[in-house]
Amino acid sequence: MIIKQFVAGQLENNMYLVLDEKSKKGVLVDATTFLPEIIEEAKDYDIEYILLTHGHFDHILGLNDLKQALDAKAVINQEDLVVSDNINEFTRLFDLPDTTPPTYEIFVKDGDELSAGNLTIKAIATPGHTEGGICYIVDGKMFSGDTLFRESVGRTDLFGGNFKKLENSVKNKLFKLDEKIEVYPGHGPKTTIGHEKKYNEVI
Ligand SMILES: [Zn+2]
Repeated sequence: MIIKQFVAGQLENNMYLVLDEKSKKGVLVDATTFLPEIIEEAKDYDIEYILLTHGHFDHILGLNDLKQALDAKAVINQEDLVVSDNINEFTRLFDLPDTTPPTYEIFVKDGDELSAGNLTIKAIATPGHTEGGICYIVDGKMFSGDTLFRESVGRTDLFGGNFKKLENSVKNKLFKLDEKIEVYPGHGPKTTIGHEKKYNEVI
């Protein structure tokens, strides 16, 4: 499995292209903005899904364009549709122009599994940063969106945010996972579950 990271947007979001060389299938995690490099890197692969960790504008602004270019299905937790549908309330806060809210093909909830070629994808619901936050485990690597960062967590002061819920999601779900699992967050550098159990400054 190959993981390619792309950093884009005003808030320096991470997007990850996850590719399986054997089956030539892959997924994209989050969709901050359309980058030609993503299309180039994915050109020999069939990208089946764009996995959205949550519905905040900085993770979905490029979704309509990326979906079309990659011919992929967009996956999100239905609980975050309200956040995604109100994208312009968030973009206005950041002085960005209004945009068309994206559409989704697949809704996932806690424990759901998908596959793309040899890649297995498991959804873990982690409400707190938003009500519909999902961490995806793709072949043993975790994509944590804004739920868990290296030595920090996502903010909980925006619509749908709740610190108690976030704390519960991280402590009672993510920290129960294998400590060796590598974590690829929505912003900033990667980490591991073990590192966060020891050094996270918030939880
Ligand atoms: Zn967010």
